Amino acid sequence: MTARAQQIDRVVIVGGGTAGWMTAIALARLLGRLGLSITLVESTAIGTVGVGEATLPQIRTFNRLLGLDEREMMARTAATIKLGIEFRDWGRIGDRYIHPFGTYGEEIGQASFIDYWARARAAGKAAPIGDYSLPIVAAWTGRFEPPKPDDVRQPYDFAFQFDAGLYAAWLAELAQQVGVARREGKITEVRRKGESGDIDAVVLESGEAIEGDLFIDCSGFRALLIGDTLGTAFEDWSHWLPCNRAYAVPCANGGDHGPYTRATARKAGWQWRIPLQHRVGNGLVYCDAWWDDQDAADCLMANLEGEAGAEPRQLRFTTGRRRSLWQGNCVAIGLAGGFLEPLESTSIDLIQSGILNLVDLFPGAAIEPAARREYDRLMDLEFERIRDFLVLHYVANQREGAEFWRAMRTMAIPDSLAEKIEDFRCRAILPEYAHGLFQQVSWISVFLGQNVVPEAWDPRTAGLPEAELATWLEGIHQRIARDAAAMPDHLDFIARSGAAFEALGETAG
Ligand SMILES: Cc1cc2nc3c(=O)[nH]c(=O)nc-3n(C[C@H](O)[C@H](O)[C@H](O)COP(=O)(O)OP(=O)(O)OC[C@H]3O[C@@H](n4cnc5c(N)ncnc54)[C@H](O)[C@@H]3O)c2cc1C
Repeated sequence: MTARAQQIDRVVIVGGGTAGWMTAIALARLLGRLGLSITLVESTAIGTVGVGEATLPQIRTFNRLLGLDEREMMARTAATIKLGIEFRDWGRIGDRYIHPFGTYGEEIGQASFIDYWARARAAGKAAPIGDYSLPIVAAWTGRFEPPKPDDVRQPYDFAFQFDAGLYAAWLAELAQQVGVARREGKITEVRRKGESGDIDAVVLESGEAIEGDLFIDCSGFRALLIGDTLGTAFEDWSHWLPCNRAYAVPCANGGDHGPYTRATARKAGWQWRIPLQHRVGNGLVYCDAWWDDQDAADCLMANLEGEAGAEPRQLRFTTGRRRSLWQGNCVAIGLAGGFLEPLESTSIDLIQSGILNLVDLFPGAAIEPAARREYDRLMDLEFERIRDFLVLHYVANQREGAEFWRAMRTMAIPDSLAEKIEDFRCRAILPEYAHGLFQQVSWISVFLGQNVVPEAWDPRTAGLPEAELATWLEGIHQRIARDAAAMPDHLDFIARSGAAFEALGETAG
């Protein structure tokens, strides 16, 4: 066989949801020089999962890498800005905190801000941690402006809340402009090569066979290739993340346009609120072992801020991931590879990681086992870190009176998470990752927001006299309040920068 005959140049993407179209445009734009032929197969009869409206700031890196115009994206997807996620009632009922996309405080000396803050707090001389974060104060007060690149004191970032269906449709348009071929039809058969067991072709209901060298499984929870065809085992994490159902429903905005997503803890799960320009996306994520479907749906509908735009739609899932995301000549991206529930809006980010790792490890003449192993190693890291961070929200609760929350509090957790909790409680020690999601600020926000407070801190903080520390903290607090107040209203920013509607205020209100 010649080297040319072995070349991996026919890529077939199965599925046209967010994962499928993000993959298609990324491969077309980032690997354009390889001269790949990229075909995406989707079935409008089957449809997409139809949720996934909140993102993380990493989506902006993706946009930049691919040269996607954010202003156009905002207008095409009715997007709003997201500076973080508000958590209501997660520690004790009545608690509220924001997990921000930015730092806390400023550098002052040898110890970190959180150590100085912990010392001042113990002396009763610190404001709540959120008062030392510019994106948090801006979010609470409904204000937004893009970060200034030269602001080293209070760096922050932002993400988007958008209509996921419109996002996939926009990417589909762009991908087809750069040569991605779209095939409509239901796949009814998957053909495999006799010797290797690799996938040879997917066959549509019409009988048309689409052959390929590399297949990307973006078929959603169906996992048509990685699961049904190749039988790759699913690692079930529902003993740590037991929520397995959701109801989703849009409603009219009740008047709050703050630039953040909200997650409110409920009887045996939690409710999301994602404000877009023209409506609010809502959903209730719950565990069916602890909450009856009808009661859960009633709870969601009773807690909408405006008129419902549809009947609530139920989705079912199991948290976990495939043991391997790259089997033979098939890579799973999106829900086909795994799902860790939407609490921290991580799925689209996992799609991005899946795509960018594939771009970095894209095969040349043949698929190398080393590339597959490395891909799995990198994705394992992502999944496991996200899992620990999500579990923290459930285990660190002090909610009274609800059996579900009591069970969450006492469940056995991964050792890796138990260590992180212990490290923070004992001495404000935080996980430090070279790359990947949920850096120290994220951990600080959930620990403190859910009342896991350090009992000791870096002794070098003693180098700063107590009165001086209090003055310093107050200075930061005041400066942040001033800087946030000087920002434009979030809606004014959208009207100027990416409004999907002529009279945004009117339409959205
Ligand atoms: C309740 C809930 C809330 C969520 N919220 C968020 C959030 O806020 N933020 C976030 O980042 N993520 C969120 N997610 C995850 C997010 O929705 C998904 O990661 C994202 O939409 C990608 O889905 P997908 O493309 O993998 O699958 P899907 O959207 O299900 O797409 C699957 C595609 O495969 C096609 N297909 C399947 N079988 C066949 C077949 N036999 N023949 C042809 N085509 C086929 C379908 O037609 C479709 O085009 C949420 C998920 C759930 C369940």
